[in-house]
Amino acid sequence: MPERLKVALAGIGKIAIDQHVPAISASPDWELACTVSRKGNVDGVQAFTSIEEMLAERPDVSVVSLALPPVPRFAYAAAALRAGRHVMLEKPPGATLAETHALQAMAADRNLSLFATWHSRMAHAVAPAKAWLQGKSVIRAHITWREDVRKWHPGQDWVFEPGGMGVFDPGINALSIMTEILPNPVHLKSARLEFPSNRQTPIAAQLTFSDNVTADFDWRQEGPQTWDIEVATNKGNLALRMGGNVLEIDGKAMAGENSIMGEYPALYARMADLVLAGRSEVDLSPMVHVADALTLGERIITDAFDF
Ligand code: NAP
Repeated sequence: MPERLKVALAGIGKIAIDQHVPAISASPDWELACTVSRKGNVDGVQAFTSIEEMLAERPDVSVVSLALPPVPRFAYAAAALRAGRHVMLEKPPGATLAETHALQAMAADRNLSLFATWHSRMAHAVAPAKAWLQGKSVIRAHITWREDVRKWHPGQDWVFEPGGMGVFDPGINALSIMTEILPNPVHLKSARLEFPSNRQTPIAAQLTFSDNVTADFDWRQEGPQTWDIEVATNKGNLALRMGGNVLEIDGKAMAGENSIMGEYPALYARMADLVLAGRSEVDLSPMVHVADALTLGERIITDAFDF
């Protein structure tokens, strides 16, 4: 049996525990060699509180996976690349486009793999949706991404701090699917951003792109959550529901499975392939749309928000 890749997982918080640890543990390709987190740890796994200490003490760890929020992530990624390790980035890949370009250059200079992951692109129905849309003309498309920030980011003030991206933290998942499946690229034409009066990032956003593509992101939805992308074409209507996991064509379920549990195993399988092939995968197009919305968007001040 080929040797498993040793990975250090940094930022032991919600997504690390919910998704990364189960995906790594279930994979024949990977061994969770250690963690790096100031407070968090995983039972039975060596725990470091500093990335520099881990890099010095574990030269056998070839891959560092970063599940930290975007603002602190760059320093960890740069340290890992400088120490000759391959790096896997949670989404969004950075706090700014320029720092992600810097990581790309660092990885390329050192022949290391850098993977800017988009977990929603691994949802069950995204590949079939992309295949169905090939060769068709899009007449219009609409994204509805409405969820409850208190449920998905309980007490995480960083999402409302500069660089936390606010509602674009989930919204960028929708944009990662949109940029993957639409047969032609679109660009942002206008945006309306709703900022709580006591916060630095938007809690809701309405976006208008070229080619009649629109999006409605809202973090105040209680009860049923909505993660839908609907596309009307010259040859029928497509709907991706449940965050890209279920595909409907003309109202009939065609493919997929109502579960997000396939996304992170698929990300780690892709990372193993990239490392073995000596390649990187960094597509920043979803983040370009977010940067454009924050540049171009009309700013509305709305009710204060507290967890
Ligand atoms: P989180 O639980 O708030 O943060 C993860 C961990 O990062 C924290 O437990 C903390 O560990 C460490 N951390 C936080 N701020 C830090 C700082 N300033 N400096 C150093 N370490 C810091 O967040 P999360 O929900 O897991 O999200 C992390 C990333 O995953 C985000 O980019 C998010 O978009 C993405 N993601 C989240 C979800 C979700 O449902 N929440 C889903 C998919 C992807 P220590 O205090 O122990 O160092």
